[in-house]
Amino acid sequence: MIVYDIQNLFKTYPRQTQPANKNISLQIYQGEIFGILGDNGAGKSTLVRQMANLVKSDSGKITFFGENIANSRHLLQVNMGYMPQESGALNNLTVSEALYFTSHLRGMSKNDAQKECEFLLNLWEIKDLRHQPSSRLSGGQRRLLRLATAMAGSPPVLILDEPTNDLDPQRRKLVWDILRRINSEQETTIILITHDAIEAEKAIQRVGIMHCGELVAVGRPSELKAKIDRTLRLELFFSPSNPPTLPPGLTCYPLESGHWRLLLQWEQVTQTLNNLNLEQIEDFRLYSATLEDLYLHYATNT
Ligand code: ADP
Repeated sequence: MIVYDIQNLFKTYPRQTQPANKNISLQIYQGEIFGILGDNGAGKSTLVRQMANLVKSDSGKITFFGENIANSRHLLQVNMGYMPQESGALNNLTVSEALYFTSHLRGMSKNDAQKECEFLLNLWEIKDLRHQPSSRLSGGQRRLLRLATAMAGSPPVLILDEPTNDLDPQRRKLVWDILRRINSEQETTIILITHDAIEAEKAIQRVGIMHCGELVAVGRPSELKAKIDRTLRLELFFSPSNPPTLPPGLTCYPLESGHWRLLLQWEQVTQTLNNLNLEQIEDFRLYSATLEDLYLHYATNT
């Protein structure tokens, strides 16, 4: 069954010359975990905000369980939990009030909403924060509350914009474990934007790659990775004041000061390493390509 059917979506924000979304068509199927990847500014959040009916499209159509979302606010409200990227406070509500009221608004009785609140406090390991106003939580704690709120009332569809941002490795693992669990036990459809490519690869069943407002590839991670299976990732570490000179024709992606990533074909590796001035390099590492490298591949080849 198709949950979301998106046809020819366009969106340009006021006072912007370039569209944030350009002719996007995509179907999301019930029970799948669908990942949206892309560089910053690619248009990922704009796409999911339109799917959540928070941003109006210029043209095109989105249906949710067969209904045009422009006319089905209530259907979305009850069946879709959305977690925005920015993890601001939830008004002046305390943690348990936020969970209780959201569950109740999604159709649970007061009694069931109370039980749901307890369940979510335990599941997300935020029991100790139950009486804290959401405005007094740390960034990571707010992220967990936002996730728990999106899930409150067990909506069959979740849209999560960077669910593991601001979280430490232990909490990231908790998020991925819970998402996999609710997907397999409750068949929750999960649409998520992430930069956490290694973990995402273990959880997502299909991925869409965005670049410059367009959806440039959609498929199973293994299918898409097959296109770059002869690609390797070389990471270089060096003193920021003395960056290495690269052989001509190579594109590097600065990750942070003194740390670059390059995508190489197998046959380029030996020559590239031979041509690097090792005195300018503090360390280097060579990896097989990950899902994250896919969008770099599409960013440079489209
Ligand atoms: P991503 O989520 O992939 O980082 P976004 O969807 O946030 O990308 O942004 C896509 C483009 O739209 C960017 O150029 C961004 O600057 C622009 N944009 C996003 N939100 C707004 C807004 N509220 N007003 C104007 N421009 C925006």
